[in-house]
Amino acid sequence: MTAHADIRTSRKLSRISYSLRGPLAAQAERMRAAGDDVLALNLGDPAAYGLAPSPEVVHAVRDNLGRSCGYSPAQGLPAAREAVARHYRAKGLDTVGSRDVYLGNGVSELAALALHALLGPRDQVLVPAPDYPMWTASAVLAGGSPVHYRCDEASAWFPDPADIARRVTDRTRALLVINPNNPTGAVWPPEILDGIADVARRHRLVLLADEIYADHLYDGVPHAPLATRAPDVPCLTFGGLSKRSRIPGYRMGWLALTGCPGHENALTDALDTLTSLRLCPNVPAQRAVEAALRVDDTTALTAPGGELCRRRDHLCGLLDGISGVRTVKPRGAFYAFPRIDRGRYRLADDESVAGGLLREEGLFVVPGSGLGPVPPGHLRIVTLAPTEMLTEAVTRLTRFLHRRRTRLPIEGER
Ligand code: PLP
Repeated sequence: MTAHADIRTSRKLSRISYSLRGPLAAQAERMRAAGDDVLALNLGDPAAYGLAPSPEVVHAVRDNLGRSCGYSPAQGLPAAREAVARHYRAKGLDTVGSRDVYLGNGVSELAALALHALLGPRDQVLVPAPDYPMWTASAVLAGGSPVHYRCDEASAWFPDPADIARRVTDRTRALLVINPNNPTGAVWPPEILDGIADVARRHRLVLLADEIYADHLYDGVPHAPLATRAPDVPCLTFGGLSKRSRIPGYRMGWLALTGCPGHENALTDALDTLTSLRLCPNVPAQRAVEAALRVDDTTALTAPGGELCRRRDHLCGLLDGISGVRTVKPRGAFYAFPRIDRGRYRLADDESVAGGLLREEGLFVVPGSGLGPVPPGHLRIVTLAPTEMLTEAVTRLTRFLHRRRTRLPIEGER
């Protein structure tokens, strides 16, 4: 037995998986080290695909490094918090002031803090399926239980508020919405958000709105912040600079609290305590917030002809050309979530499919099964990469599937 082999770790971890950076990522790294050509379309990192941040944002950090050496207030620098509050007031969240904004080292840190604040042992939080797995994992680590509600592929990946309501129990505390959605790219319309708000209102749940992709919208589809549909319901809206400003490495996110009249309440007390314990968010990155919210260079990327729109269209067009592969066109964010017909191809579970794609073709994408309880046959593919890279990825996927065909397609069949 090696030294320390008997160290026991937390049993909570056995309930956690994070397939975006899990065993497949380690295998991809080993393959790269051995000189294999690995094409990675697994992470939503704009910087990794050559999408540069706005220079103003980088300069704001660089020019302020000298005065960013000390801790900031635990909640974040007042000027940066006011910039976030202004941003949300302009979107119709009239009540948000700087006191209602908490800055953090990415939405990831604030999601964990918020769930720690809200959940007692075995308390439940309703989470969309499929989901971005950080939320499910954070709920478990906070001692709570994620309960998944269904987003329906046949309904453009929208959820049904009546289905959500049926899953509420006397232990349910919070209801999470990810909109625009990762991994489906769906942008949920106001009427669905109204239904969700109503479930929260009737059952006295706190709403959690992860809107980190609020700036990534295609085809003119409108996005309504959930909090505008539920001004009377406690709602934590999450956003940040990882996607908007293409600087995930800076680690800067925020949450804005609405629907809780008065600044002194149990939730703000809990958030104040928890944010104090982590001392403060990264101070140089906080300097980016005002500049980042002043410039909007995302719309030009997502508008027709814009680089992100072109890349999404390119990937979706290629996927549509593969027999037996169907994709609900993503209207937001930067992921495609195609479904492969398992009658047309001999496929094992999603994990094995993604493992096989990596091993045989050097293509690294995320298995649908790593993104919560979803019907088998899905893969998540990042749309951010340059078009040549996306073409190569689809060539590899097609070759992989060709080797597993159960029959030739009938003429006229896709
Ligand atoms: N929320 C969603 C839906 C995401 O897709 C991601 C990252 O991909 C995050 C949160 C994490 O964001 P951050 O970099 O701010 O921690």
